[in-house]
Amino acid sequence: MIPSVLPTYNRAPLSFDRGEGSWLITEDGTRYLDLGAGIAVNALGHANPDLVKTLTEQAGKLWHTSNLYQIPNQQRLADLLVEHTFADTVFFTNSGTEAAELAIKMARKYWYEKGHHERINILSFEGAFHGRSTGAIAAAGSEKMVKGFGPLMPGFVHLPWGDHAALRKAIDSHTAAILVEPIQGEGGIRPLPDACLKGLRDLCDETGVLLILDEVQCGMGRTGKLFAHEWAGITPDIMMVAKGIGGGFPLGAVLATEEAASGMVAGTHGSTYGGNPLACAVGARVMEIVADDAFLAEVRRKGALLRQRLEGLVAAHPAVFEGVRGQGLILGLKCKAPNADVVKAGYAAHVLTVAGADNVVRILPALTISDAEIAEAVTRLDAAATALETA
Ligand SMILES: *Cc1c(COP(=O)(O)O)cnc(C)c1O
Repeated sequence: MIPSVLPTYNRAPLSFDRGEGSWLITEDGTRYLDLGAGIAVNALGHANPDLVKTLTEQAGKLWHTSNLYQIPNQQRLADLLVEHTFADTVFFTNSGTEAAELAIKMARKYWYEKGHHERINILSFEGAFHGRSTGAIAAAGSEKMVKGFGPLMPGFVHLPWGDHAALRKAIDSHTAAILVEPIQGEGGIRPLPDACLKGLRDLCDETGVLLILDEVQCGMGRTGKLFAHEWAGITPDIMMVAKGIGGGFPLGAVLATEEAASGMVAGTHGSTYGGNPLACAVGARVMEIVADDAFLAEVRRKGALLRQRLEGLVAAHPAVFEGVRGQGLILGLKCKAPNADVVKAGYAAHVLTVAGADNVVRILPALTISDAEIAEAVTRLDAAATALETA
């Protein structure tokens, strides 16, 4: 008999009653050190007192009005995002997938309004993940995601990861945009080297093709800059944000330049919940905290510390691990042992990680993780690796 919850997830036999910062606590009081943070969502940790206060204050005033009216919190969050990024304008969604949908629509509409109705194709990359809508799975194109769901939305061209020559050849008079994650998340923490991101920008400038960055997982301070593309010194035309931006409250956004957004006039897009007063109250507080130089410097410092410790872990367990990759607090442990076994051994050692593609274990802690918790995390991962070796 089918379970009452549609069985689309392979869930671990674990459930939690409450959270405190980097810790998740079961009903019986067992504490797990959380290096997954809801897959890069709980950027400021669980039950962050500041966010709890912001949420409950707003909850006592106003939850939802629809976008028929002005929403001051939405305006405030949009102003913060515009102030701190390349963007001139922002649309709010409830998820990363919805951000992908708008990014695709926006790029096509841009060319349509320019009279280039043939420019509909979006180039995307092997290993990409942009969400689970029919459009987002067509964009990613992996068999695992699309099989059985056809016919797929046309207009996506899938390219190998990191092959600049193939990319250059793929751009033609039908190309609307390039869509890419600066660091592939689900794909196994695969960073696009800064030089490649710069090359993409140059190629887009040469051809007029729009550059869409998916920073749903790697953005919002996770790399130690507010957004990952800042490391390469370039800016996109359109950017998708979600996950960390709500600190655990469902929220996403599409950021764009005035030029890229020029086709999106009144009536061309909308969302009932997107940008509601509750989500935006929390999002604005998250932005105030994360878009702060001192906070981001701490993420860089702690990212370097964690990475150094993880390199030591890899060296101590060459049969289990192969290497560390990523930046800041979006790190991947490339495994020799099956990554699912490493994640499972972590459960037994009361440390939570997330599997990714390419046999990687993702380490995506709260950006507020302490030095002591970093040390404890590596101690627990060491115990997990030892248990695997002796199994
Ligand atoms: C998670 C993710 C998405 C999809 O976000 P949802 O909120 O699950 O819809 C899109 N792109 C990237 C890079 C992601 O990591």
